[in-house]
Amino acid sequence: MRYFCCEFAIVSAFMITFAVEFNSLTIINIRTMVNYKDLGLVNTRDMFAKAIKGGYAIPAFNFNNMEQMQAIIKAAVETKSPVILQVSKGARQYANATLLRYMAQGAVEYAKELGCAHPEIVLHLDHGDTFETCKSCIDSGFSSVMIDGSHLPYEENVALTKKVVEYAHQFDVTVEGELGVLAGVEDEVSSDHHTYTDPEEVIDFATRTGCDSLAISIGTSHGAYKFTPEQCTVDPVTGQMVPPPLAFNVLDAVMEKLPGFPIVLHGSSSVPQDEVATINQYGGALKAAIGIPEEWLRKAATSAVCKINIDSDSRLAMTAAVRKVFAEKPAEFDPRKYLGPARDNMEKLYKHKIINVLGSDNKLAE
Ligand SMILES: [Zn+2]
Repeated sequence: MRYFCCEFAIVSAFMITFAVEFNSLTIINIRTMVNYKDLGLVNTRDMFAKAIKGGYAIPAFNFNNMEQMQAIIKAAVETKSPVILQVSKGARQYANATLLRYMAQGAVEYAKELGCAHPEIVLHLDHGDTFETCKSCIDSGFSSVMIDGSHLPYEENVALTKKVVEYAHQFDVTVEGELGVLAGVEDEVSSDHHTYTDPEEVIDFATRTGCDSLAISIGTSHGAYKFTPEQCTVDPVTGQMVPPPLAFNVLDAVMEKLPGFPIVLHGSSSVPQDEVATINQYGGALKAAIGIPEEWLRKAATSAVCKINIDSDSRLAMTAAVRKVFAEKPAEFDPRKYLGPARDNMEKLYKHKIINVLGSDNKLAE
């Protein structure tokens, strides 16, 4: 009898311990999970619908640090533009996932403090590579994720994208898929050649996956070295390198198959030659960095292309400003004295893109 009592006591003690552990795990989980709406962020659904109707594109600017984020938000507020704050998996590792969530929340509050009553800010994962990465972002406050299965066989890309969409839509988070492969290098994403999107696949892909937008490949590419000089011709008037034309026929065919469906262009930096010249003038070594002409992006923005990704251009603007300070004031060692000018230069670049390339200025709802 005494033996049974003792055993019962041990079992009870175990159950109490288990219950406490279960509860604390649940509490931790609830505390860790956060919905983007609680952070004041929005998803891309209405934003893209309005952009397609209005013939403009939403800027998707990558950020890794505070100065970039400040510059993006200030530029968006002062031009009254909606904006997508974009984070790659590498940037998430660099900045820390928890800190990022609070930075995004801070971005919303900062926009309000700057006078924007109803900011439209998306926190988006750029090139999510697994279901787990996308889930982790959704659980920590992202309002939009990209699942990039473009390197996978078609059926695997469909299955992976569908799985992410099913999870994301439970929380009203929007999902970007990708068909076709972009050339170039960006963080962990790299390919030495491009494969144009096959317009014959887009209806099947969009229908079966349920994705909210589609990144396509029409000849843009990642990084600052999009084309070799041998691939380019020289403009006789400006003397500038002109890359091979984008495959607007592929874009037209995609739009014909999926009328009104949101299309995304990656790798759309223009590699401003004045920034490249400044970098090289002050000790840099960027040789033959060539991007996508801004007129081509302006043309794309008037179509169903409603999100244009720009990363390298702000890296160039930041680096040019920092190099200039280091060269002209070698005794300077206060980070604010070189990161401040870098922030100003990025803000100028973002405003230029919003107003002159994407046309998303003055598109915030009053
Ligand atoms: Zn990309």
